[in-house]
Amino acid sequence: MTSATVESRATRIAALPFDPATEPVRTVTRCNLCGGSRFVVIAHRDRYGYRVEAHACDACGLVFLNPVMTAEAYGRFYRDTYRPLVSAFHGRLIDATTIQGEQREYAAERAALLAPWLAGSGLRTLLDIGGSTGIVAHHLAERFGLDAAVLDPAPLEVDEARKLGLETIAGLVEEYDPGDRRFDVVALFQTVDHLLDVGGTLARVRALINPNGIFFVDIVDFRAAYLRNRSVEAAIKVDHPYYLTEDTMTAYLQQAGFEVLRTDFAADHLHVSYVCRPDGPKPGVRAQPGSVRELLREIRAVQNAPSA
Ligand SMILES: [Zn+2]
Repeated sequence: MTSATVESRATRIAALPFDPATEPVRTVTRCNLCGGSRFVVIAHRDRYGYRVEAHACDACGLVFLNPVMTAEAYGRFYRDTYRPLVSAFHGRLIDATTIQGEQREYAAERAALLAPWLAGSGLRTLLDIGGSTGIVAHHLAERFGLDAAVLDPAPLEVDEARKLGLETIAGLVEEYDPGDRRFDVVALFQTVDHLLDVGGTLARVRALINPNGIFFVDIVDFRAAYLRNRSVEAAIKVDHPYYLTEDTMTAYLQQAGFEVLRTDFAADHLHVSYVCRPDGPKPGVRAQPGSVRELLREIRAVQNAPSA
């Protein structure tokens, strides 16, 4: 990337009326995955140049922003800033309309992954949490004969989902009250890294799924994100409170009560997907001994790799 490109990117981002430094935040004192309280600061800026800190839990390797914007601040962020910020970063318009092509491709890939568990399964209902414009939910509904509902905090994206004839729920999953309602298929497509409480949300999802149901979740694999650019800062972004790895996501799933049926390294070499079914929760599950030291050593190696 040329320095002119970097400069114009910084100028475009600086022109946005947003700075996380002036937003309300909360300090994380307990690791969301293991409850530990000793953290290692691994980054002081994100890919946009904002001053945010990423911490790694010394006990389990979970990486998260700390401090992190409050739910209200993220609500405003998704309404006003998220797509303009991503557009400024990439130097092209990315909005509720333009993302649909990419989402169609994503939908086809994830449908292929889910087909063995959904085709002819008799499963009837789908809740797509963080379902954006509904392209993915719509594709799955058509292909597998599901009644689909989309839950998303971005109003413009929910409007697009409604136009597709999907049931829509505007809001954050953390604030969604399902009452007695249960679903056969629950999906967190490209969403888990955006959550404010991964452990709490997975427990809620577990309670929302019928006993014979299927749960899908995919992560931006934090290790893949820093290894591909040889930069930890390039892998940190204010829109992601969490940075999951195969170790931490697997521990989260086991803790919440999911058995992983299939793991998939996506074609983009960045995401890792999990197809799961409900299982008994295993509250004490931790990362493998040694994996946290290995992660921190790898981060140091990336931070200090000679530039190409
Ligand atoms: Zn931890």
